Amino acid sequence: MRHQTIFVINSGSSSLKYQLIEPVSGDVLAKGQAERIGTDRGEVTHEVHASKFSAALPLPSHKEALTQIIEMFAAHGPDLQHVDLSGFGHRIVQGGWHFKGPAIVNDDVRAKIEELCDLAPLHNPAHLIGIDTAMELWPDLPHVAVFDTAYFAGLPEKSRSYALNKQVAHDYRIRRYGAHGTSHEFVANKVCDYLGDDTVKQITLHLGNGASACAELGRLPMDTSMGLTPLEGLVMGSRTGDIDPAVVFHLLRKGMSVDEVDTLFNKQSGMKGMCGDNDMRDVWKRRDEGDSDALLALQTYQQRLLKYIGAYTFELGGLDVLTFTAGIGENDDRIRRRLCEKLEFIGVKIDRERNENRDRSKAIWRISTDDSKVLVLVVPTNEELAIARQVVRLI
Ligand code: ADP
Repeated sequence: MRHQTIFVINSGSSSLKYQLIEPVSGDVLAKGQAERIGTDRGEVTHEVHASKFSAALPLPSHKEALTQIIEMFAAHGPDLQHVDLSGFGHRIVQGGWHFKGPAIVNDDVRAKIEELCDLAPLHNPAHLIGIDTAMELWPDLPHVAVFDTAYFAGLPEKSRSYALNKQVAHDYRIRRYGAHGTSHEFVANKVCDYLGDDTVKQITLHLGNGASACAELGRLPMDTSMGLTPLEGLVMGSRTGDIDPAVVFHLLRKGMSVDEVDTLFNKQSGMKGMCGDNDMRDVWKRRDEGDSDALLALQTYQQRLLKYIGAYTFELGGLDVLTFTAGIGENDDRIRRRLCEKLEFIGVKIDRERNENRDRSKAIWRISTDDSKVLVLVVPTNEELAIARQVVRLI
């Protein structure tokens, strides 16, 4: 039997990632990406059933990139005419004050996403290009915008607020919108489903290139580490995370421009800025070779995580489950072990054997000992599947 499929698009300024998904089974029929859009050194990679195809070619625009992706489908399958394509899901980083859930894209929704470009100048404009291009190529199918921030529309007011002048916060709509919501929601729901309990006090750690922590009571977010933008919070691949805002004033007074500080904090800081590499595998390699910058970067990374786990444990009034997800969370057993060993005094007991040997047949993987007071899990995130399912629910 043929099932309906959803085409999920994550459009960045110079890249476009896609997956063709069967939302019910979760099967990925194809996935891939176009990279270096806007240059004559573009590359399209298309994966079908573990076979990988790639083509190097100029990609002057997102339209050309999507056209080439369609070519890949025509050449290597699956045939888009025969997969019962029901709609598109577009990942949008910033939904701001406008969106508390997914929305079918129309003129009004498009205008609102555009209005929010101010708050996400690196992301929302690129998402709009993806939406416009896909809608031009597939005008008859529904296009749904799924927002990274929507899950956090339900944060308690005290977690959403900065202690900023009320009038200024109001006029400029400055509040904590959070990010990675699709992932935290997906993972928190999995944990609740797994335990059959909607009251657990849990912390989900999304540790990828971008990284964030979220405190949840059951399925509901109580606090999260990203703020007005995805810059706040944990130490990340190339972002500072928390930093005294006075550093900005200081650098501006020293002659840096606003854009230079923006780039410095978002792209030249974090692990990369501290030790030269943002991929955790390379950072460990450096550290194992005795690089003191890499050692300090790892210690700072871990220290920030501990701070957030500590704060959230107190905010929640205890901790039942700690869950790791995303590239580092799912793959880096050393980070997990070191962190968990520091948490022994709150009842975390990690099973080193379980931690190091992942059972890939399982969607949820327990790495704490049977008698650990706090359950520690690894739950692979799947933002594309979560987006596809939200699209189906809406259309
Ligand atoms: P994003 O979606 O934010 O780009 P991912 O969730 O895909 O990030 O995570 C990417 C990061 O995961 C890489 O930069 C790398 O640091 C880390 N990573 C992937 N595999 C491993 C591994 N085996 N060990 C340690 N870190 C890993």
